[in-house]
Amino acid sequence: MSADIHGGRAKCLQRLIRLNMPVPKTVALPFRTVHRIAAGGVPDTGAILAHFGPQPLLSVRPSSQDPDWGGPGAILNIGMCDVRHAQLCDEIGERAATSLYLRFIQSFATHVARLDDEMFTLPDTPDHEALALALRTYEEEADEPFPQDVGRQLADVLRSMARAWEGTTARILRKAKGAPEDAGLGLVVQQMVLGVGPGDSGSGVIQFVDPLTGERQVTGRYLSQSQGRDALAAGSEALYLTRDPRGPSLEELCPEPFAELVACGERARARLREEMQIEFTLHGGRLAILDAIRVNRGSRAKVRIAVELAEDGIISPEEAVMRVDPQALSELLHRQVAPGAARDVITRGIAASPGAARGRIVFSATDAQASASRGEDCILVRRETTPEDIRGMHAAVGVLTVRGGVTSHAAVIGRGLGLPCVVGASDLRLDRKAKRLVAPDGRRFAEGETITVDGTTGEVLAGAPVMVEAALDGAFQQLLDWADAARDIGVRANADTPADAQTARNFRAEGIGLCRTEHMFFEAERLSVMREMIFADTGEDRAAVLERLLPMQRGDFAELFEIMAGSPVCIRLFDPPLHEFLPSDRQGMRSLADVLDLPLSDVEARVEALEEYNPMLGMRGVRLGVTVPEIYEMQARAIFEATIAASKRGAKVVPEIMIPLVSAMREVELVKTRIDAVAVNVYNETGADFAYKLGVMVETPRAALRAGDIAPHCQFLSFGTNDLTQMTYGLSRDDAGRFMSAYVKARVFPEDPFHTLDIDGVGELLTMGAERARDSVPGITLSICGEHGGSRSAIAFSRAIGLDYVSCSPFRVPAARLSAAQLAIADRQIGDGLEVG
Ligand code: PEP
Ligand code: MG
Repeated sequence: MSADIHGGRAKCLQRLIRLNMPVPKTVALPFRTVHRIAAGGVPDTGAILAHFGPQPLLSVRPSSQDPDWGGPGAILNIGMCDVRHAQLCDEIGERAATSLYLRFIQSFATHVARLDDEMFTLPDTPDHEALALALRTYEEEADEPFPQDVGRQLADVLRSMARAWEGTTARILRKAKGAPEDAGLGLVVQQMVLGVGPGDSGSGVIQFVDPLTGERQVTGRYLSQSQGRDALAAGSEALYLTRDPRGPSLEELCPEPFAELVACGERARARLREEMQIEFTLHGGRLAILDAIRVNRGSRAKVRIAVELAEDGIISPEEAVMRVDPQALSELLHRQVAPGAARDVITRGIAASPGAARGRIVFSATDAQASASRGEDCILVRRETTPEDIRGMHAAVGVLTVRGGVTSHAAVIGRGLGLPCVVGASDLRLDRKAKRLVAPDGRRFAEGETITVDGTTGEVLAGAPVMVEAALDGAFQQLLDWADAARDIGVRANADTPADAQTARNFRAEGIGLCRTEHMFFEAERLSVMREMIFADTGEDRAAVLERLLPMQRGDFAELFEIMAGSPVCIRLFDPPLHEFLPSDRQGMRSLADVLDLPLSDVEARVEALEEYNPMLGMRGVRLGVTVPEIYEMQARAIFEATIAASKRGAKVVPEIMIPLVSAMREVELVKTRIDAVAVNVYNETGADFAYKLGVMVETPRAALRAGDIAPHCQFLSFGTNDLTQMTYGLSRDDAGRFMSAYVKARVFPEDPFHTLDIDGVGELLTMGAERARDSVPGITLSICGEHGGSRSAIAFSRAIGLDYVSCSPFRVPAARLSAAQLAIADRQIGDGLEVG
C-alpha cells in the first residue's frame, strides 16, 4: 500500500496495524476505484463487506494523498437499520442504540441523500418517537424509506464521497492547498468500535505536542459515551486526558487503557517519524485506535517538532531542515495575526514586508513621529512613500501605501527595517484633506482609528485582532545551524544602517552584500548639508560642503565595519538622482530658502533645473560619479579612513566598493582611476596600509551584455535585479503595482517579476553576464543583491549559474539560509538516488 495509490490515511493505518496497535479491521479503496465510482461505476460492496462478517457497523473516511488536501467528512455507523437497532437495544440499551441510529440517519440524510439539514437536527431525547419521526421525515423528503440494507447504504456513502471529491468546490479548495489538478482520493472502510455502551466506553483525540509552540505535552479530550471527534466539540462534560487540577481525567479514571494509549502514541512518533494526532475509542474499557493524522501545527511548532524529532534521533538533521518551509521560518521573525483570529478585512494589497502590526492611522511622517513620541503605535498610511518619509517609517509600527509594488520605496525600506508593510492597496481611497481612508465597501477610517496591516498576507484589517509574538528560540537557531552545515551558496544581507547591520549579524548573514549609502543622508542634520552641496555653484563650494559630510560618512562606515567584525561589507556609492533630496512642496522650498539664505525663486529655479522626465533613467548612479566626481571621492575617502580606524580597533577590514548603474566599461575606468587616487592620497597622508575591492553593480541590460569588458576592471560583480528587471521589461518598479495584478490575472506575466525573478528573460541576462564575466576573469566573485536574492527560486537559479552568494533584506536572511540548504540537500539526494521531498 502506498500514499500515492491509497492515500495518506490508509497508508498510516496500515503502518499502525503493523506496529501491532489495536486498529479495528480496515479495508482501503485505492484512488482508481474511487475515481471509477465517481464516474458512475458500481461499488463492489459485496467484496468489501465480506471482510467484516454479518451485520457490520462501519465507518468510511477519506484518504487523500496528502492529508492537508482534505476530503469529504467521515460517515460513521453505516449498517444501522431497524434490525440492527433492535439488537443493539439489547446489547447497549435502548437510549444508546437509538442515539446511534438517529446520528446515522442524520448524516446519511444530509451528506449522502443531500436533504435539508434543518429537517434532521438531533433531538435532546433520543427515544422511540424521535426515531419514528426521523424515519418518517426521511421517507417524505427522499421519496423512499430509509435504506435498510448495509450494502445499499455503503454503496451510497462511497458514491457520494467519491463525487464530492470531484466537485468543483472541492477542487478549488484543494488546489489552493497545493494539490495537483488530478489529485486522487482513497476511501477507508473500517469496523466501528462503538464508544457507546456499557462500562468505560467513549471516544477521544490525543496528541503529544502543543500545536502552537511544538512543546511536548499531552493535549486532547475524552468524552464518555461518544463517537468520532465528539469530545473536541463537547463542553465541560469532556474529560482531560492527563491529571489536571481543573477536573477529572482519563488518566485517573481509566489508567490502564490510558497508559496503553500513551505507549501507542510514543511508538507512532518513533516509527512514523512524525507527531501524530490519534483518534481513539474505549469500548467496555478496551482501547481501539481508529485513526492517526499528522498534528496540524503553526509555524513555531513546525520548527520545534522537526528539531526535536532530529534531536531524539528519529529523523536526521538534514530531514529536519527539509521539513520546514522557509515561509514558516520567516513568520517566526515577526509578530503575526494569531491563526484562527477573527479578521475583518478592509482590503488587500501586495504583501511587501512580512509580519503584522496594529496601530492608529496617521497620514504623514510628522504625525508618525509625534505619535511615537507620545508612545502610541501608529500605522503610516501614504499614497506612496518617498525618502522624506523615512523618519516617519522608523517611528511607525507598520506602513500601508495605496500605490507601489514589491520593490517600491516603502517595500524596500519596510523589509530592511522588519516593518510590516502592505503596498499597492489600490482599492483604498485616501482622502488626505479630510484625513481619512475610504474602504472599497464604503467604510471610512479616520485618523487615529486602529487598523492592522498584515504584511504576510497583504491584508489590511479593521481593529486589532489577537497576535502571536515573534519566536527566535533555541529550535530556530538549531535548525539554521544544521542548514548552514548543508548549504553551498553564501547568504549576505542588504543593510544600510547600523541597526540593519546588527539585525543582519543576529541572523548570521555572512556579510553585507549591499549598503545603500544614500539612506544615510536623510537625517535632518545631514539633509540640509546635502542640500547645500546640491546648491553649491562651484566645484570649490561643493568640496567645502562635502568636507562637512565626510566625518559623518566616516562615522557611518566605521560603525558598520565594527558591527560586522571583519565580515565583508559591500558599500554602494551614491545612486539616486539628486533632486530626491530637495523639497517637493512650496513650504519645503520656503524653509530651504531660509536655511540657505537664498531668494525663494532661486530655490524654485534650481529644483526645476534638476527635474527630469525620467529620473530613474537620468542623472543618477555612476553618471553622477562621472559628472560630479567629488561625491564619490568623498565617499571613497570616508570608506578608507573608516577602514583604517576600524582595523586598528578590531578585525581587519577589506571594504568592497560598488559602482551603481554602470552601462559602459569606460564609466568604471573613470571612477576606478579617481578612487585609486583617493586611496593613494589616504595612504600617503596616514601611512596606513589597507586593501579594498572594487566592484560593479550589474543592473542595466547593457552591463550584463558587456560584462566581459567590465570584469577586468573590478574584482566583483553584483546583479541588481530590481533595476535589471525594471529595464529589461521597460517597466517602472514604482508604478507597476497599478496594473500588475491585472497582468498576472490575465497571465501576461506568470508572476510579478519584481517579486519572483523572471528566469526566462532577466535570468538569461544574468546567465550571459555571469558567463561573459567569468570567461574574461575566471573566478571573479559574482552575486545577486536585488530584492529577489532572498527567494527560493532566485537562490535555486543563483546556484545553477554558479553565483557565490545572494544578498537580501536582513529579515529574509534566515529563510534564505534555509532555502539554500534545502536546495543543496535535494541536489545531493537526487545525486544519491534517494527520494526527495
Ligand atoms: C537593484 O537595482 O537591484 C538594487 C539592488 O538597487 P536599488 O534597489 O537600490 O536600486
Ligand atoms: Mg538599483
